[in-house]
Amino acid sequence: MPVVAIVGRPNVGKSALFNRLVGSRVALVEDLPGTTRDRLYGEFEWRERRYVLIDTGGLDESGEIAFSPLVRQQILEALQQADVVLFMVDATAGVTAADEEVADLLRRSSKPLLLVANKADNAAREQAAVSFYELGIGDPITVSAYHGLGIGDLLDAIATLVPATGDETVQAVDEVRIAIVGRPNVGKSAILNAILGEERVIVSEVPGTTRDAIDTVFSFHDRQLRLIDTAGIRRRGKVERGVEKHSVMRSQDAIDRCDVAILVVEANNPFTAQDVHVAGYVDKAVKGLVVALNKWDLVANPEGEATHLLKLTKAKLRFAPWALMAYTSALTPRGMPRLLDLALEAHEERQRRVPTAGLNAVIRQALAKHSPPTEGKRQLKVFYVTQAEVNPPTFVVFVNDPDLAHFSFRRYLENQIRGAFGFPGTAIRVIFRGRSEET
Ligand code: GDP
Repeated sequence: MPVVAIVGRPNVGKSALFNRLVGSRVALVEDLPGTTRDRLYGEFEWRERRYVLIDTGGLDESGEIAFSPLVRQQILEALQQADVVLFMVDATAGVTAADEEVADLLRRSSKPLLLVANKADNAAREQAAVSFYELGIGDPITVSAYHGLGIGDLLDAIATLVPATGDETVQAVDEVRIAIVGRPNVGKSAILNAILGEERVIVSEVPGTTRDAIDTVFSFHDRQLRLIDTAGIRRRGKVERGVEKHSVMRSQDAIDRCDVAILVVEANNPFTAQDVHVAGYVDKAVKGLVVALNKWDLVANPEGEATHLLKLTKAKLRFAPWALMAYTSALTPRGMPRLLDLALEAHEERQRRVPTAGLNAVIRQALAKHSPPTEGKRQLKVFYVTQAEVNPPTFVVFVNDPDLAHFSFRRYLENQIRGAFGFPGTAIRVIFRGRSEET
């Protein structure tokens, strides 16, 4: 999710633009110590894309405050967080000494920059905006934040500076990609066949390399499902039996390409180190996970075993307590539609968005219960949290310094988000973003 920062000397109308774009959905205010000035975080949407907006100038737009070290520091900080910087000037005032100082700072940064001449309510003022060329920043975009003029052009200009990520195009395809993974001999081919049914001719094998991945696409409950690398499943079952290392690599490829992984394990020999390893990879790749406890027909005492296996699963997959589980028997066959239902359920969860206000309320409570970690005299400060993406659900936490957010605190926040919003069946991603670039 791209971050746009508004900078400029006081009184040019930064908060007017912030309010125009974000409206009443302001989510968080950061108090800057020792000042009456605050930094605001909010969000806006333009042409199906969402952005985070930072207003560095804050609420105090009164008076002709000189270009202070404080303003300077705020601009530098904004530069570090932003993907695009809006440098705002006042079209009615012309170029001031303070504008020149801001321009000086901005020219030293490599961040994409737009010069925005505000208060351009009439033609004469638009004309006056021409004088801003002398700042050496480029063409001024004239707007009236207050009257809502020129805002669309400004947003289009922002959009061109933030290249679309490949993910967005992939996501447009409304298809659920499922990988069936696990050790050799656990019953992956059998499950594949049970899912697809005998009569269906599904795979047309491409001769040649063993690494050709062939997918099977079919519809289920009005959804298009893609089973990933079905050729790999069959071939591994028949030819490469026992070649564990190769099968792990092939599993990883399939997991990388999927939305949801179905991990097949043997109910009568569950959670070997290898099974746990593959589950760990699913978690690391931030995918959905459904565990199929297969060969259920070989379990002597199903009722007693079910409880035991549930406990065992929780213990072995401690890192993924959110994983869904199904008891299956590929030969009977049993549990097949349910297996796909669970995979779809996990996929649904991956598409879910939670409201920003609620999210920040949860995080504030979490911080009240456990104050953020300190290192020496420095303490982690959490400013704002937003869900930037779905599939996988991705949360961005804006902080003063990501280095201060050590592993256990990250886990803590992730657990709090889960506690409040669930997301059963899928891994989620929590990214910390601050002044030093880190994910
Ligand atoms: P893959 O290597 O994971 O694809 O495993 P296969 O599908 O080739 O299955 C390995 C063996 O386990 C075969 O002999 C299957 O018939 C058998 N098998 C698979 N699923 C089940 C099941 O649910 N119950 C029983 N009893 N045997 C199964």
